[in-house]
Amino acid sequence: MADFDVPVLGDYPICPVPAIKPDAMKGLKPFAVNNPAHNTALGFPGALVDNWEEVAVAKMRELLGKYRSLQVFLDSCVKCGSCTDKCHYFIGTGDPRNMPVARQDLMRQIYRRYFTAAGKYLPKLVDAKDFTREVLDDWYSYYHQCSQCRRCSVYCPFGIDTAEISMAAREIMDAIGLGQKYTNEILGKNIKIGNNLGLPPPAIRNTLDGIEEDVEDDTGVVVRFPLDVKGADVLLVTPSADFFAEPHIDGLIGYGKVFHQAGISWTLSSYASEGANFAMFIGSYSNMKRAAMRIRDAARELGVKRIVVGECGHAWRVAYSFWNTIIGPFDFLDPKYPVPQHICEFTNDLIRRGALNLDKSANDHRVVTFHDSCNVARASRMGQVPGGQYTIPRDIIKASCNRFVDMASGTIHDQTFCCGGGGGLLTDDLMPLRVKGAYPRMQALRQVQEEHGVNYLAAICAICKSQFSKVLPYYKFDRDMIGGVHQLVSTAIQLGTKE
Ligand code: SF4
Ligand code: SF4
Repeated sequence: MADFDVPVLGDYPICPVPAIKPDAMKGLKPFAVNNPAHNTALGFPGALVDNWEEVAVAKMRELLGKYRSLQVFLDSCVKCGSCTDKCHYFIGTGDPRNMPVARQDLMRQIYRRYFTAAGKYLPKLVDAKDFTREVLDDWYSYYHQCSQCRRCSVYCPFGIDTAEISMAAREIMDAIGLGQKYTNEILGKNIKIGNNLGLPPPAIRNTLDGIEEDVEDDTGVVVRFPLDVKGADVLLVTPSADFFAEPHIDGLIGYGKVFHQAGISWTLSSYASEGANFAMFIGSYSNMKRAAMRIRDAARELGVKRIVVGECGHAWRVAYSFWNTIIGPFDFLDPKYPVPQHICEFTNDLIRRGALNLDKSANDHRVVTFHDSCNVARASRMGQVPGGQYTIPRDIIKASCNRFVDMASGTIHDQTFCCGGGGGLLTDDLMPLRVKGAYPRMQALRQVQEEHGVNYLAAICAICKSQFSKVLPYYKFDRDMIGGVHQLVSTAIQLGTKE
């Protein structure tokens, strides 16, 4: 099935230090943009500019001035080694360049050469390097072998965030015309059409009609999936994968059933039909703002009181951490509600208030575990209490099913492992990396499967769902064992039994 080595599961501890395989992943890289329009639409040169070295150094100077954290990160590493074995891509590939500190050093060497006195005059002494084409190729390769998951930063005594360095590196590469096809093409569609898939409004309405019919066939209850309804209380913004992909669509059905039983009016928007925002992956705050502004404009146009965000890790990070700065203030929304609010917060609140009738036994065929998605676990929060991003999804799962077990400590909460496909790497050009990077999570999953019979892996991220659907079979798991938290709610909810 795979034309590359797939790590073998079963040797505990969960995260063994791999055998070192120098250059094992050298040269593996995603396709670069081959249609100049996909770059220029985002404000980047259409192709690699002739004087790219000069432009790249100028862009780095700009970023060092703008993001003080970047300079601090590049200056403060003491090579203590704490981060070295914490990256799933290093654990899965053994390539020492996938150690977080080595990934950082790709930029640090250039920083020292062009921005420090020691690097200018004694480059060899301080490991400073000229920005050559060979170095640029390594940047393109290894900064696209980082899912920006931030796990390494949890273990760094200085809190150095390799994810931010990786975002800055991609920002510099875009500035010289070396963009990544997958991310830039999708982001362009989102900004122009309103969703990553380029779905026009009739296609969205058509899908929602189909969902309404399916739910009525399954339950005998008419549950509406409204689109562009002015005056609704809630605007739901969710990843567009929820409209079409499996298992995502089952989560959307779950959201609809929750709104229905709670009796809260809601709507989706055809103008802002995307919660995802790939601009974060390339560090482009101007494009992040362009994509996010559609959501603000739709909320105003529809006259909603609140905005709720569906199951998507980086969408939630953008909403939670950036919305207020880039598209705020949200003074036109009802101040009684948090801005933004996660769908899990919303559902959990209803469960606590007894507004939903859930029959846990409807999920008795499932033994469930929960995968904390990186951008929720380490880059944002949920609810009013610290750690809510860990407890709230688990509380919903426990209210919806009888059998839940967590994976090993050290692989959950803030120490969770990336699914292997985050950060703009969910593209088939990177399949060997995606499969190898999933190894630590698969190892932890195999343990709970063997010890507790786990057969359902719940996640609240569209990327995690797509990634696991693809990589689970490589590790001899059933691909259908991945699903959303609201898929469990959807199974358990007893429609029509509440006033
Ligand atoms: S942010 Fe995640 S993917 Fe990137 S180096 Fe750190 S652990 Fe690895
Ligand atoms: S843990 Fe932090 S200080 Fe230590 S080597 Fe890694 S990045 Fe450098």
